[in-house]
Amino acid sequence: MSKRVLITGGAGFLGSHLCDRFINEGFHVIAMDNLITGDLKNIEHMFKLEQFEFYHHDVSKFIHVPGELDYILHFASPASPIDYLKIPIQTLKVGSLGTHNCLGLAMAKNARILVASTSEVYGDPLVHPQTEDYWGNVNPIGPRGVYDEAKRFQEAMTMGYHTYHGLETRIVRIFNTYGPRMRLNDGRALPAFIGQALRGEDLTVFGDGSQTRSFCYVDDLVEGIYRLLMSDYVNPVNIGNPDEISIKDFAEEIIELTGTDQKVTYQPLPRDDPKQRQPDITRAKEILDWEPTVSRADGLKVTFEYFKNLPEEDLYKYAYPRSFDK
Ligand code: UDP
Repeated sequence: MSKRVLITGGAGFLGSHLCDRFINEGFHVIAMDNLITGDLKNIEHMFKLEQFEFYHHDVSKFIHVPGELDYILHFASPASPIDYLKIPIQTLKVGSLGTHNCLGLAMAKNARILVASTSEVYGDPLVHPQTEDYWGNVNPIGPRGVYDEAKRFQEAMTMGYHTYHGLETRIVRIFNTYGPRMRLNDGRALPAFIGQALRGEDLTVFGDGSQTRSFCYVDDLVEGIYRLLMSDYVNPVNIGNPDEISIKDFAEEIIELTGTDQKVTYQPLPRDDPKQRQPDITRAKEILDWEPTVSRADGLKVTFEYFKNLPEEDLYKYAYPRSFDK
């Protein structure tokens, strides 16, 4: 019989790519999502498969899944600056209550659980590049606090279940990731810049654009996560691409890629926006024999194709409002 995996946030950007991967590996996949930020379009190609199921459910509430489960991947969470402002309470709840429910379910099913953490646990880092041993520089009450602290609590609770209950747990710290199925207009730099180029608007760089990020293509990330889940390593592992670039240079790359004749305009830097971010992936290399293989140039080409082929009205759709439980 095939192994069974539950993927929360299964209709989201990362969750849906994980569903694809586990289907391809021969698993029975149960995707769960409340569709606040996820979208059925990301998974509808799997609806016809017998080994795929979708549950419309908010994991911050008690989770019921009939039958056995071998693995749980907890990927349900809003994850963009607009989300933190628009749905802060849901962001806090899914990282805390949602994680608690997933851990309880893992106990009940005797399943191994992997939780999606984030480079945001390092906050505006004072150590560069960031190793897993760095404890971070986080403002709990700033605009990003609802995400950062929920994810930090998530890590604490996951380790608690591991040490107290002996649950099999894995923690991945995900750095900036991009690829097809990202939401346009969710405030993130890459879809913002590509959307602006496609609409014929100037590209809005926040601050002076000297802040850095390191962008990982989604297929590389999924490979790292798969290897971590199958490993026996319990402490957090950074998965990301160390190829660091300033946001100003990144905007220039998007201008070049899209062939737009628009320019960069400068807008105020949001509060607590990390000044620099680059993963130290020594641990992933040593333990998982993993490193990224897709260059930014190649990954961006594929991603631009995806956005270019979306229906034109999507370009003008704002990520909100959507209906959801408060
Ligand atoms: N950013 C920008 N213009 C935009 C959107 C984002 O200059 O229209 C900047 C943002 O301030 C940040 C960087 O791009 O410094 C990456 O932003 P994103 O939201 O993609 O990720 P995060 O800040 O969470 O790493």
